[in-house]
Amino acid sequence: MEIAQMKTINDRAAWLKGGTTVCSNLPIEPPKKAWRLVLLGAPGVGKGTQAELLSEQLGACHLSTGDVFRAAKCLGDDERSPAIEKALEYMRRGDLVPDRTVLDMVTERVRCLRCCGGFLLDGFPRTVAQAESLERLLEWEQIPLMAVLDYELPLEEIIDRIGGRRTCPACKAVYHVKALPPRAAGVCDKCGGKLIQREDDRPESVRVRMEAYEKSTRPLIEYYERRGLLVSIAAEAIPQETLRRTLTMLNDVVANRASGK
Ligand code: AMP
Repeated sequence: MEIAQMKTINDRAAWLKGGTTVCSNLPIEPPKKAWRLVLLGAPGVGKGTQAELLSEQLGACHLSTGDVFRAAKCLGDDERSPAIEKALEYMRRGDLVPDRTVLDMVTERVRCLRCCGGFLLDGFPRTVAQAESLERLLEWEQIPLMAVLDYELPLEEIIDRIGGRRTCPACKAVYHVKALPPRAAGVCDKCGGKLIQREDDRPESVRVRMEAYEKSTRPLIEYYERRGLLVSIAAEAIPQETLRRTLTMLNDVVANRASGK
């Protein structure tokens, strides 16, 4: 089965803003195949970039919990709930936000999981408790998860990638000073915004994030392996090559399921 190139970019308004916000460019008719995937991997492996590229290819929406917190950072002081205020403190330090806060946030956005275009969950789940809650939520909604993509990269490469990563606070585009530089240094190709280094990409926060990954998120690899959902992908290549590998693996998953393997 060939994966069609859809080039649909959703503005993710319902996910980023929550509440009753509606996305401005919902799919007019459901795609033939709605992809429902989780992306796993340590900070800096390039999950976010792959989620963006996959979203363009598959038409499924890129749902990043980190992006929801970063969007909340831009709200006025009086618009932030005490729970979000607290979550942002954890995030600045590089610590994981407590499960309850994350789960409430995802549950409030459950209609994004129901979206007929499918979803690519990035940065959620991040703990076994979150994975169990997601499993219950999807079972209740009768939405089967198709696969969990686990991106793997050696630690030195991760540190290099995070150190050079720059993001656009306006449109969330991600660059790397060496591997994926913008056309003009420090300026976003897509919207002209001024690129920044994320607060939690600074060395002191990166150490805390890597520890949190090893302790809380790595156990999810075994969790999803036991459920027959895990697809491991080496992520050392350039983003387009990693995307190509991912699409090949997804084609295999679909073909194997169809043949009952
Ligand atoms: P990310 O962009 O996925 O690296 O997330 C940035 C930060 O947001 C993390 O370092 C955490 O502080 C917080 N965060 C995002 N998603 C989660 C989650 N599922 N569980 C706990 N904390 C999260």
